[in-house]
Amino acid sequence: MAAYELIDHEYDVVVVGAGGSGLRAALGAAQQGLKVACVTKVFPTRSHTVAAQGGISASLGNMGEDSWQWHMYDTVKGSDWLGDQDSIEYLVRNAPKAVYELEHWGVPFSRTDEGKIYQRAFGGMTRNFGEGPVQRTCAAADRTGHAILHTLYGQSVRREVKFFVEYFALDLIMQAQSDGTQACTGVTALQLDNGQLHQFRAKMVVLATGGYGRAYFSATSAHTCTGDGNAMVLRAGLPLQDMEFVQFHPTGIYGAGCLITEGARGEGGYLTNSEGERFMERYAPTVKDLAPRDMVSRSMTIEIREGRGVGPNKDHIFLHLDHLDPKILHQRLPGISESAKIFAGVDVTKAPIPVLPTVHYNMGGIPTNYHGEVLTLRDGNPDSVVPGLMAVGEAACVSVHGANRLGSNSLTDLVVFGRAVGLRCGEVVDKASAVPSASKAQTDAHLARLDRFRFADGSTPTAELRLSMQRAMQADAAVFRTGETLQQGTDKLRAIDAAGADIKTTDRGLIWNTDLMETLEYDNLIAQAVVTIESGLNRTESRGAHAREDYPDRDDANWMKHTLAWKRPGEQVQIDYRPVHNYTMSDDIAYIEPKARVY
Ligand SMILES: Cc1cc2nc3c(=O)[nH]c(=O)nc-3n(C[C@H](O)[C@H](O)[C@H](O)COP(=O)(O)OP(=O)(O)OC[C@H]3O[C@@H](n4cnc5c(N)ncnc54)[C@H](O)[C@@H]3O)c2cc1C
Repeated sequence: MAAYELIDHEYDVVVVGAGGSGLRAALGAAQQGLKVACVTKVFPTRSHTVAAQGGISASLGNMGEDSWQWHMYDTVKGSDWLGDQDSIEYLVRNAPKAVYELEHWGVPFSRTDEGKIYQRAFGGMTRNFGEGPVQRTCAAADRTGHAILHTLYGQSVRREVKFFVEYFALDLIMQAQSDGTQACTGVTALQLDNGQLHQFRAKMVVLATGGYGRAYFSATSAHTCTGDGNAMVLRAGLPLQDMEFVQFHPTGIYGAGCLITEGARGEGGYLTNSEGERFMERYAPTVKDLAPRDMVSRSMTIEIREGRGVGPNKDHIFLHLDHLDPKILHQRLPGISESAKIFAGVDVTKAPIPVLPTVHYNMGGIPTNYHGEVLTLRDGNPDSVVPGLMAVGEAACVSVHGANRLGSNSLTDLVVFGRAVGLRCGEVVDKASAVPSASKAQTDAHLARLDRFRFADGSTPTAELRLSMQRAMQADAAVFRTGETLQQGTDKLRAIDAAGADIKTTDRGLIWNTDLMETLEYDNLIAQAVVTIESGLNRTESRGAHAREDYPDRDDANWMKHTLAWKRPGEQVQIDYRPVHNYTMSDDIAYIEPKARVY
């Protein structure tokens, strides 16, 4: 291996990732008087959170009656009873507080005539335990993520969070404890502009690295969404949770895959098939086009399969906004009006938008409790925490979204649990104690991995392996799955994973080496792709976004449990389980008993 030197840093808290969750966590830890660094591979305000359109849910009740109990019921039902109900209670009860905090920090929310925060309807958000749509999603036009991310970045700078921008985190520094378990004591990173290597030692590392939508061929997520933190966790020998649950958003623009927010249907938009029929009335008579995403995506797929798709190939669906007042479209949905023009050539005031379900969100990720502490299965205890390691945002699986996330509950997740992480750091990080040391033995493997890819001289370029992986995931871990497709996908992905031994890179430098960076990202993605498809093959039921045609029913007796999956490089996936928390956080609300999920 070439000689590498590590530049050493020490902090109380190191947050990896500067999306909504990372910034909120970093800012929260700084508010606790801790010395905080934020390491990010892209400039903070370019994180994928910037693309969030529709809004952030909280039961403010600005547009009619609402309550956190209703929000809790909807989230539990949306999760198809896989969500942990203590965490869901924490989410919905703290949501209004977290939104008002954003307002006071300067997020320019859209307003009602009385000057209150404007709220729109979103899928699966209902009044009085399922009676009909409620307006719960707080919006800044259709650029809510943009507004939140910029505000949080400003506030973090104000609190003196130290940013390390365009630093690519490589791996977690893990230290064996006296009882044989592992603690996290830092993270290594490559500085992209000059090729220097760094080690950040810390009392607490917070992974806020976002989702891994780019394991698929067509996704609404940014090209940077490669789940690097999830893969670091796998390499550290820790499990990921519920990775089989991948959300398809019903309305990606046909062909381009860019998102048209669910807020478009929240403002009155609706879907039609080739017969001009508003088919969602058949599948979800109460909430229709505002059914949760898993159901709408499945309904659209069935319409297309049964020959009622639109277009020359009958392979997509129409989303109508052309009946809405152009003034409302201009005021509330300016961004998607522009996207439809650019990517589909459609003037939304005159014609429908061609749409298709597109990969959008990962319910699975790094298991945590509602303080953000990372969980692992140790000595048979499903709630053991890993000292020194937290996770938050789309990278984490708290689990509040369970088997299916409701639209606008992710931004809430980012700020509520980002805030919780800051508060927990205040409780568990001792300012007076010494920052743990790190030895060469602990970081050598990180550098060896980097070195192997830098000088990789096989015969298959990264781009080729990546494309095979993306196509296999798109075809075999789709909206509908069967044992056969999942087995086929598993075989393909195992082979692609193994072909990594023959990978080829061409740039041997270390300065802005995008070839190397994309290879590191691909290596992160393939591990998650394998875990996703094998977790799906293993789960023989249908629940939320995991729809198995060979097992069409939810099976609470055998499967109301979280999947935990381990995969170290070069090894096969191992699977075990954690029970779903069938209790709430407080006595204010009883456990919501499972029932059939109809809308
Ligand atoms: C188009 C789109 C629209 C959406 N709209 C909504 C919406 O309206 N409402 C809603 O609730 N949800 C929405 N979502 C979902 C939501 O926006 C995301 O789940 C959320 O923004 C993820 O935030 P995050 O903080 O977890 O990560 P991200 O915002 O993805 O940020 C990840 C951060 O990690 C850093 N990072 C990653 N890997 C590394 C590494 N190796 N080294 C250093 N840094 C690293 C990146 O630089 C980045 O700063 C939308 C998602 C998409 C894709």
